[in-house]
Amino acid sequence: KQKADDDNAEAEAQTHNPWTGLPYSQKYYSILKKRFTLPVYQFKQELLKKVMANQCVVVEGETGSGKTTQIPQFLLEAGLASQGETCIACTQPRRVAATSIAARVADEMDVQLGQEVGYTIRFEDVSDPNRTVLKFVTDGMLLREAMHDSLLSRYSAIVLDECHERTLATDVIMGLLMEILPKRTKGSKHGELKVVVMSATLDAKKFQEYFNDAPLMKVPGRTFPVEVFFTAKAERNYVEAAVRTTLHIHQCEEPGDILVFLTGEAEIEQACEEIRKTAGSMARDHGELVVYPLYSSLPPEAQRKIFSAAPKAQVAGGPPGRKVVVSTNIAETSLTIDGIVYVVDPGFSKQKVYNPRIRVESLLVSPISRASARQRSGRAGRTRPGKCFRLYTEQSFHKDLQETTYPEILRSKMSNVVLTLKKLGIDDLVHFDFMDPPAPETLMRALELLNYLGALDDEGEMTELGYQMSELPLDPQLAKLILVSPDYGCSAEIVTIVAMLSVPQIFLRPREQAKAADEAKAQFTHADSDHLTLLRAFNEYNMVPERERKNWCWENFISERAMISANNVRNQIIGIMKRLDLAYVSSDIKGDGSFSSMDIRKALTAGMFMQVAYRQRSGEYLTVKDNQNVAIHPSSVVNNRQDWVIFEEFALTTKNFIRTVTSTNVDWLVELAPHYFDLENFPKCEAKGELEKAYLRMSKMCKR
Ligand code: ADP
Ligand code: MG
Repeated sequence: KQKADDDNAEAEAQTHNPWTGLPYSQKYYSILKKRFTLPVYQFKQELLKKVMANQCVVVEGETGSGKTTQIPQFLLEAGLASQGETCIACTQPRRVAATSIAARVADEMDVQLGQEVGYTIRFEDVSDPNRTVLKFVTDGMLLREAMHDSLLSRYSAIVLDECHERTLATDVIMGLLMEILPKRTKGSKHGELKVVVMSATLDAKKFQEYFNDAPLMKVPGRTFPVEVFFTAKAERNYVEAAVRTTLHIHQCEEPGDILVFLTGEAEIEQACEEIRKTAGSMARDHGELVVYPLYSSLPPEAQRKIFSAAPKAQVAGGPPGRKVVVSTNIAETSLTIDGIVYVVDPGFSKQKVYNPRIRVESLLVSPISRASARQRSGRAGRTRPGKCFRLYTEQSFHKDLQETTYPEILRSKMSNVVLTLKKLGIDDLVHFDFMDPPAPETLMRALELLNYLGALDDEGEMTELGYQMSELPLDPQLAKLILVSPDYGCSAEIVTIVAMLSVPQIFLRPREQAKAADEAKAQFTHADSDHLTLLRAFNEYNMVPERERKNWCWENFISERAMISANNVRNQIIGIMKRLDLAYVSSDIKGDGSFSSMDIRKALTAGMFMQVAYRQRSGEYLTVKDNQNVAIHPSSVVNNRQDWVIFEEFALTTKNFIRTVTSTNVDWLVELAPHYFDLENFPKCEAKGELEKAYLRMSKMCKR
């Protein structure tokens, strides 16, 4: 304790920032004071001692105790990184967390974001190889970096954060680290690699054992009691119930901010709107209520707002204002918002599910686990005693909720990971040291898909095409699409489509202006294809002079941010295509923004032939080979008159929907993917008859 106090006093006596050489700002000192009060500060020396003595240390500490923001800085201060040579990485499962925490830590260190402290997320690198010493990265990006630097030699320390979430990428990185750590010991070529495994509540034993009996450092929480309430009856509509509960808290409870958990953007925006609608009329008697949404596709300025203080009383002596944050799971453990006293927990989150039998991965709104529910209620007791309102019954909590969520690796398709591991030279997937190994059927499905796409040969060896695919930070099917597109003379268009598929929703459809939004979208509609509709929207946007684009987007119900992002993603993919020596060719020969629908649809078919549906005589669609009943999503521009369609996404909701659809042609299917549409192993279905006819036509053509 004495040592810690001395350290703090010494830190406060510093006048100049060693990183920049500049005098510290006033803001720096005021944040520093707050940092000293964080629980992890008391454990700084203990942590550093453990890190110096061991290659790997496990840290468990309550959310908000300062793990993510402070521990990487402790490692920096201990001299673990040296500018231009080595760097410390801290992984985050979510993009929002990586960017937001990087910004916070840059503030704490009084440096400019992107210089000494930076972040890297897919398609966005805000760091400087010569300056950055601390980098926040998504776990997926660190995995990609390993593909080019298999010993992660740039890093002297890796902080694996939020390990309890057990995301697919974190699990794979842990497996990789098991291979890397013995090669990065003291005195090895690239120096020792230190690993700190962190989490709010983790099964510490399991992690310690996995990392060869790594020592544990436990940071006790500093939390206040939280009173938990359940509903007496199950709620029919949890969004509506969440809105009602929030307004009720505002009306009846003591001052203190509210955190509401919902599952996604649409729900969150709807709830915010409804809360705002009623809150206005309550302001005079109960104080002002400000509402902030928080989800991943929100622009950074809007994300930062959640940290602003609640409004003051409007008149002296009047009721003080209150802040409500309506958030996805991100506020469960990744980001801590101070001042929360009330939590509203409907008990749901969006979770990945994968069914290897029908090869469908989808995000599904599902009940959370009891562990999540406890984390959520814990958010209410950060600064003083709080209350948590669970919008489900106590019986349901005990009976219906699982104790913990299954790790994502057991709920995901593995094609992307398998391609990455193959690229890393890990051939024996069965003996790879996964903390929880994926189901054999899931691995089989991944190998099968990569084989059909031509990334792996029949022996499971990576092909040249496979290497090229792994260079693209995209799903294997989209990567394949990019790679074949020059053959169809339309790589310029395909790269646009892929970029548009990689960004958040382009077409906005506010509920109260749905009709106007649909009319605006109709201008871009290409009746055969959602993909071509996206392409058209992008081309038109690009023709608009830059200074008029904002207005244009506004008038056409198009998200300008998503468009800017798509343009950026597009340029980055073009950069990779250049490196891979892929031709940039356009089907727009006249140069007027027109394109060849047929060439593009054919190229799409060449990449996506494993996601095809055929319209039955009954009028319903059935996915080909897997025989699942599906309906074209109402947001699609493709009508139900097309016989054959390829689709981007299979969404499991109340109904099986396919989204982002393009019409294709049976003759193309047998021409482009005869190895997939091999009739010998084909289940009996109406599509089979059509495929047989197409093969006959093709053989007649060949004979002629
Ligand atoms: P942990 O990782 O243990 O959950 P963090 O290091 O993320 O904790 O957060 C520690 C504290 O830092 C929080 O309680 C909060 O007060 C503060 N903090 C973190 N990010 C921000 C931010 N963007 N703005 C203001 N305060 C922040
Ligand atoms: Mg954290």
